[in-house]
Amino acid sequence: MSITNNSVASFHYTLKDDDGNTIDSSQDQEPLPYLHGSGNIVPGLERELEGKVVGDKLSVIVKPADGYGEFDESLIQELPKAMFAGVDDIQAGMDFHAQTEHGQQVVTVTKVDGDTVTVNGNHPLAGKNLHFDIEVTDIREASAEEIEHGHVHGPGGHQH
Ligand code: ZN
Repeated sequence: MSITNNSVASFHYTLKDDDGNTIDSSQDQEPLPYLHGSGNIVPGLERELEGKVVGDKLSVIVKPADGYGEFDESLIQELPKAMFAGVDDIQAGMDFHAQTEHGQQVVTVTKVDGDTVTVNGNHPLAGKNLHFDIEVTDIREASAEEIEHGHVHGPGGHQH
């Protein structure tokens, strides 16, 4: 069985940046399951996993456009502190859910200067090349319910 649309595939991964620093890894955890063809993982990686079988190992470099997007300066905004009413002590590094012209987004506070709060709505990995080392560990057919929901159920997936 190979990975195709509506397969649930699981893989171990190590993700590094251009400098070889590890950003994320599954090595001390269970492999990550995803529903192939549903955009659960970044497009550049999903494309490379098409047709792979259990035991396959691959190294993939995903460009920002096929990963978490290019860094978008327009997503850096200065907001009045009054917009954060109810937050006692707003500080750099805090994450907030914000309603923006791009829909619901997580924004990170990067600077607080007097009554001005600077937020960045880019994904933390936006603009970065993603270096993945992957090992496919399991492939199975998705259930009808998983296909309907567009995600994996059970261990490592949605619990509902
Ligand atoms: Zn579901």
